[in-house]
Amino acid sequence: MEQAIEQATSVEALLQKRPLIISGPCSAETEEQVMQTALRLAATGKVDILRAGIWKPRTRPGSFEGIGTKGLPWLQAARKASGLPVAVEVATGKQVEDALHFGVDVLWIGARTTVNPFSVQDVADALRGVDVPVLIKNPINPDLELWIGAMERVAKAGIKHIGLIHRGFSSYGNTEYRNAPMWHLAIEMKRRYPELLMINDPSHICGRRDILQEVAQTAIDLDFDGLIVESHIDPDNAWSDAKQQITPEKLGEMISGIRWRKEDVASEEYHAALEKLRQQINNLDDELMQILGQRMKVAESIGKYKKENDITILQTNRWNNILERAFAKGDKLGLSKEFVTKYFDAVHMESINHQNKIMNS
Ligand code: PEP
Ligand code: MN
Repeated sequence: MEQAIEQATSVEALLQKRPLIISGPCSAETEEQVMQTALRLAATGKVDILRAGIWKPRTRPGSFEGIGTKGLPWLQAARKASGLPVAVEVATGKQVEDALHFGVDVLWIGARTTVNPFSVQDVADALRGVDVPVLIKNPINPDLELWIGAMERVAKAGIKHIGLIHRGFSSYGNTEYRNAPMWHLAIEMKRRYPELLMINDPSHICGRRDILQEVAQTAIDLDFDGLIVESHIDPDNAWSDAKQQITPEKLGEMISGIRWRKEDVASEEYHAALEKLRQQINNLDDELMQILGQRMKVAESIGKYKKENDITILQTNRWNNILERAFAKGDKLGLSKEFVTKYFDAVHMESINHQNKIMNS
């Protein structure tokens, strides 16, 4: 019991480390694989916590669904030999109990579990009265409320040390990424819960090795607190997520290759220059808002004419014409087509809403 308490305190202290680096195989496969991965990761000197999936939620049946409880003693042995605390994914109350029974130091809730409040509640109920850090991955769909809901369920169970893992969001069709990062969602979570640890998972975002480093760098540039990266002694032959895993040595190189920037610096010159530029941004934003307000007033005048003449609000030709002009102009100003589309969609919807009010008043 005393030892268990000591363990919890040191893991607590560990969670304060920046950057916090978690690595290990997607899945525990064999005792030897877990042990070798742990020892080689520890040898890099870059890793704080060993991760390994014991129960694997797979999209399609028939894929390797995890070694199960049998793998927990392997983790215990690897923990002892390497000195690295261990983290495991849990999706049910029973898995929480099993993991804790075998001395797992950190638990995480996976993306496919965060989406389901019943499952999260089951996990949370098993966590009542337990002092273990819990990391919560974003739900697989881009829904901030679900992510927050899972965090609240775990917090209500009395868990003191909660962290978030940003692992990207699934989207239909082929993209550069396996799961789109949608950085703005992670940034919004950081804004709302600045006290929570925010870790980036480049492995599940990328789904491939070649762009892991750049995604990890982006996360660090966005002031994330750490990284969770999958590693394997024989990545190509991994039983799950083979394409995105790297060897422990590559992981070490990757962490060494990251440029760690500081969030602040005590230079007066820097602060004065930044302050001036930020004031410019504020002024420009004010002007933009003024102009947008004016634009809506003009849209309302058009609405009045349309109402008097019984004309539909939307004329597709006119809308195409606006977009084409905007793309051409945006191109010259260095604004991406993606941004111009989003911006005009938003402005156009607001115009339609203003006109709608006039037409139906
Ligand atoms: C994992 O970490 O191996 C995993 C299953 O991740 P996710 O829940 O993000 O899909
Ligand atoms: Mn994985």
